[in-house]
Amino acid sequence: MSLPKDGLPAEQVLDEIRALRSADRPTHGGRLFAYVYDPGLDGLDDLAMSAYALSAHVNGLDPTAFPSLLAMENALVGAAASLLGGGPGVVGNVTSGGTESLMLAVKAARDGAPDVARPRLVVPVTGHAAFAKAADYLGVALDLVPVSPRTLRPAAADVAAAIGPDTVLVACSAPSYAHGVVDPVAEIAAVAAAAGVRCHVDACFGGWTLPYLRRLGVEVPAFDLSVPGVTSISVDLHKYAYTPKGVSVLLHRDADLRRPQYFAYAGWPGYSMVNPVISSTRSGGPIAAAYAVLRHIGDNGYLALASRTLEAVRELAAAVSAVDGLRLVAPPESTVVCFTAEGFDVFTLADELAARGWHTQPQFAYGELPASIHLSVTASVAPRVAEFAPDLAAAAEAARAAGPLALPEVPLDRPLPELLAALGFGEGLPERMAPVNALLNATPPHMREALLVDFLGHLQRPTL
Ligand SMILES: *Cc1c(COP(=O)(O)O)cnc(C)c1O
Repeated sequence: MSLPKDGLPAEQVLDEIRALRSADRPTHGGRLFAYVYDPGLDGLDDLAMSAYALSAHVNGLDPTAFPSLLAMENALVGAAASLLGGGPGVVGNVTSGGTESLMLAVKAARDGAPDVARPRLVVPVTGHAAFAKAADYLGVALDLVPVSPRTLRPAAADVAAAIGPDTVLVACSAPSYAHGVVDPVAEIAAVAAAAGVRCHVDACFGGWTLPYLRRLGVEVPAFDLSVPGVTSISVDLHKYAYTPKGVSVLLHRDADLRRPQYFAYAGWPGYSMVNPVISSTRSGGPIAAAYAVLRHIGDNGYLALASRTLEAVRELAAAVSAVDGLRLVAPPESTVVCFTAEGFDVFTLADELAARGWHTQPQFAYGELPASIHLSVTASVAPRVAEFAPDLAAAAEAARAAGPLALPEVPLDRPLPELLAALGFGEGLPERMAPVNALLNATPPHMREALLVDFLGHLQRPTL
């Protein structure tokens, strides 16, 4: 845009944003099963936004100048530590999200082993893509461990076999994002410890729910810092702690393990810089909002939210199992319901659900794993399940009636604008995403990555 010559009135600017926001998927109301985490609690957003506003201009760059932020960060880390088995030596930091927590866990491991010239990271294929990103950014090689197509878990023996003299970190998930499956953390941490290698547990998704699910009687294996050999763990507060976006916690078992996470630099004429996280200037907004949300919901509040979520997960899983041709990819053991379709097209099913107001997350086939639909289930879904079940059955019937999906006849080597036009992209997304998803699903990962980069690059152009 060009700046308006004279500034616009506040109400007008807010109206512009409201108009833009109307094109977005619904962040509240339990109809969007990815990207957003909604507890469905009245008044929580107002509280979070007030707290955010109080601290938005505070800078985490220097905690001695802004002790309020240090106090709130230490409080959030303390809350995560007591939920996740932290002992007396535990330390941690608030990061901007799961990706940053994982990148810093990898950085701490890499820089904690300065004698390893070509550091390597061992992670199951079901580990979050952010591990691949961390490896790429940090110049660490990635060793992927297969999972059983039946249990979606890696075998500890395969993890052990992947560990070599250059391995600086072994990682696993509690649970995995794609399927909600908890890896055998104790066994993996044991083989890592036996090799003298750090072990990070990615509990970004489930770290705030698994302890409550356990209190509700769900069988949850030990996955946190109480497990010998686990050296660090991450949990995203902007997921199941239901805080606004931009807050995750990375915990280390002790301060020595954390030390190489820091970056310090005094070799320039400006201020001596010491940063625990990737950002240097850091807004206090997300941290204050998270502090407010945690203290307002409280322990009993999170237990009640987990209970509602568990109820929704069980009812959704039952709804899936009741539909002919739908199959759960894994029995739900956390807050993910993941299912596939047999006898009809799963991407068409996702479109049919979207047409009925349910926004799910299609996942592409990987190795022996079929394409699937992912549902991240939050507390706000519970009152919606009774409407979802008949819509799921109707959507499946419609997908079956639509018959097999023919791959669109578009040459992938055409210039992107031509390709997009052929796929039905105009001003916005095509009405049916199934042909696009089917095409991407059939495209080898490396080509898919290149296509998606071009697509995003095509969207991300300045409005002049
Ligand atoms: C969401 C998630 C991440 C990445 O977190 P962001 O906040 O999106 O950066 C990493 N690991 C798991 C298991 C996740 O669910």
